[in-house]
Amino acid sequence: MTPSDSSSREAGRASRRAAPMGHAAMRSANLSLLLRHLHTRGGRSRATLSQETGLSKAAVTSLVSDLAERGLVQEGQVERRGTVGRPGTEVRIAPRHVAGVGIELNVDYLAVCLRDLAGQARFTSSVPMPYTLDASAVDGRRYPPDLVLDRVAEQLREALEVASLEGLWVAGITIASPGPIDYDGAAVRFASNLGWTGVPLGDELAARLGPQHPVLGLENDAKLSALAEVPRLARRGIKDLIYLTGDMGVGAGIIVEGRLVRGWSGFSGEVGHIGLDPAGDRCRCGRRGCWETMVGFDTVLAVLDEDDPARSGRLPMLERLERIRVLLEADDPRLHSRFTTLVDDLVRGIGVLADVLNPQAIVLGGYFGYFADQLVGPVQSALDARLLASDGRVEVSGSELGLEAAAAGGAAVALERVLADPLLAPLVDGGAEPSLRP
Ligand SMILES: [Zn+2]
Repeated sequence: MTPSDSSSREAGRASRRAAPMGHAAMRSANLSLLLRHLHTRGGRSRATLSQETGLSKAAVTSLVSDLAERGLVQEGQVERRGTVGRPGTEVRIAPRHVAGVGIELNVDYLAVCLRDLAGQARFTSSVPMPYTLDASAVDGRRYPPDLVLDRVAEQLREALEVASLEGLWVAGITIASPGPIDYDGAAVRFASNLGWTGVPLGDELAARLGPQHPVLGLENDAKLSALAEVPRLARRGIKDLIYLTGDMGVGAGIIVEGRLVRGWSGFSGEVGHIGLDPAGDRCRCGRRGCWETMVGFDTVLAVLDEDDPARSGRLPMLERLERIRVLLEADDPRLHSRFTTLVDDLVRGIGVLADVLNPQAIVLGGYFGYFADQLVGPVQSALDARLLASDGRVEVSGSELGLEAAAAGGAAVALERVLADPLLAPLVDGGAEPSLRP
């Protein structure tokens, strides 16, 4: 590039910045502002919306009417403010017309979630992850991408069918996969637990779903789970958090100032491969002493007898967890001892993350979340004991979203398209919502 190319490009940028926002772009931005406000803050009157957003009352009335034509908002209960004067009718997010879909690819299961704009799950389903037995593979299983993708497409068709029957327009589908993502190519870079490298999930699923499919996106499972936890913690003023998911591998979703951190090339949060012990066990990634060789779910299974049902790869994850719960409650000494050392091993890694990122909260998900009653208290105490200063305290909690956190996060991310651009939603038949008066 010559200097003049560079300067004309700079000039182009400057003139774009200086150009006044067109009427259509301004209206779209204001529609997004109002819809987001209602989405995060809940239903409120037009007068309150006007006060809180700085838009005029007339503008709010007109924008609300546009949002209602697309089935995005509706009128709800009356907002009462004392007994004098006319009560304002509340405008709130409408649950009946727009939805998003998330699907999680996990070593154990495929979980799908159809969620409406009001945040309600309208359909969820989980089936075992298909695999072929192969003694030479890690854990004796192989996950041929074609086999897995056929099943994923089947699950998605089922969710889309429910959406169609319920009159929901699907804004998008987000696929939650383990491992770092190639965002430009909609591919999984590598997922060591699935034995996948460079699998183009986006194109493969698009081909299977046919030309009319909703927009497909791809994101790492732990990152989506972290996003799914954001609303719960944001209500308490927490904007910096790390979601830690425990499965055979361990991954993290990092939220800083309310925003997901992907890193330069999408590798943020691959915390399971932090090297903590150069003389430790060999990891699936090829290195030695990675954190997940100390805290991965197989380190819990390994203390059980070889023929224990929890060790059978054929049992769904939830049943394996329930089996371990039963043994723990029966005071199985091997598990009690493993959970004691597990707390130490968890704190070794979490301590590093807390020192580097200084989060307000750590949320334990996956199997860590299932055993939150065993882990949260001791991990919290151990972290408190190593504090450098009292205002560096990090709050530990267990995820309340269960094993479907990533699918729920995926659906929420798919809905983000409509929050950013409400005009994407199609007009509802017959124009305005019957329940919404002008
Ligand atoms: Zn590793």
